[in-house]
Amino acid sequence: MPQAEGVSAQAERVFMRTAERVRNLPPYLFVEISRKIAEQREKGVRVISFGIGDPDLPTHPHILEALHEHTDVPANHRYPETEGLPELRECIARWMAQRFEVALDPATEIVPLIGAKEGIANSALCFIDPGDVALVPDPAYPVYAIGTMFAGGISHTMPLTEENGFLPDLDAIPADVREQARVLWINYPNNPTGALADIDFFERAAQFGLDHEIAVLHDNAYCDVTFDGYEAPAYLQAPSGKAAGMEYFSLSKTFNMTGWRLGWACGNVELVDPLLRVKSNIDSGIPQAIQQMAIAALDGDQSVIEANNAIIQKRRDKVVNALRSIGLEVTNPKASLYIWARIPEGDTSADFAARLIEEQGVVVTPGNGYGPAGEGYIRLSLTLPDNEVDEGVERIAAFTSQ
Ligand SMILES: *Cc1c(COP(=O)(O)O)cnc(C)c1O
Repeated sequence: MPQAEGVSAQAERVFMRTAERVRNLPPYLFVEISRKIAEQREKGVRVISFGIGDPDLPTHPHILEALHEHTDVPANHRYPETEGLPELRECIARWMAQRFEVALDPATEIVPLIGAKEGIANSALCFIDPGDVALVPDPAYPVYAIGTMFAGGISHTMPLTEENGFLPDLDAIPADVREQARVLWINYPNNPTGALADIDFFERAAQFGLDHEIAVLHDNAYCDVTFDGYEAPAYLQAPSGKAAGMEYFSLSKTFNMTGWRLGWACGNVELVDPLLRVKSNIDSGIPQAIQQMAIAALDGDQSVIEANNAIIQKRRDKVVNALRSIGLEVTNPKASLYIWARIPEGDTSADFAARLIEEQGVVVTPGNGYGPAGEGYIRLSLTLPDNEVDEGVERIAAFTSQ
């Protein structure tokens, strides 16, 4: 009998065991912050959160109209194709040509995504075999490294430092790492630092990719969240861009569409095609009524983008001023939804963020949540309503930072 018990206990353990890739997921980084938020709320404090980057402004009416118009069409109640509606791919090609003067074949060089995040995560399955290396920035949007880990790959982190304008130093990557590397992840305008890259940098990245047979994967989720007249370039505008890589775009931040889930990847057919093939075995495309929303957004009045950015820019100025007034070093970002602020020497990101919640009920993200090189910084997102920004700014100004 003891033997039988042993067997069943073992069977249960095996059944309950999660895969290594799940066990390897980092613990939720903001447990401590979440606990502090709950504490403040219990005390009746109205917490102001500059934490999450998710636009508070609603999706524009002309985009919602397209959804309403297409929900009753029976064809849209059935499985969509993974490659998306031909008219969506044509619309994306048109938009890329108008916005960036980048020419793309809608039949082979564009794959619509259920948001850029999905495409980024699934790309690891396309290009990373167990033991392969992905070059990943630090700090960074977490999905590059997590996708790599899911595919059994190894992330080699490239520190983004203020001295380098938060651009990776490609020459600093050791030769043996370069040999094992299959992909280079970059993201400009950058989350979380708000840093920018120009076409020259993209060309250098593309040349590096061609020289070492590394696919350059550029995440351009913030290309149209820009201020002060700045226009963000596309990686694909670099002369060698398409030869070396693929670029991800998203409607989420540009058109206040995080809830609708639509983006695309485009560029080299040798990179686009595997992503389409992997995706066709995992998902079954984007709901077609939502694809029609994307068409309405991309073909529609582009002045909504500018109007949106004017709102964010005002918030940015208020927050930057407040942070400077308490002695923090801040570069006024020309793009992205984030302020990346250096905290006073000798403090840690986590302690600073914790005190800001405890003393003022203001939530910011500790920079090390985006990687060890983010230590010494905090990130503030500008996606909260204006009245909350005003209140938050007053509370920050009242905070004793040292
Ligand atoms: C928000 C964000 C995304 C995700 O975009 P979705 O299209 O909503 O999935 C991708 N990359 C970065 C850097 C982001 O900040």
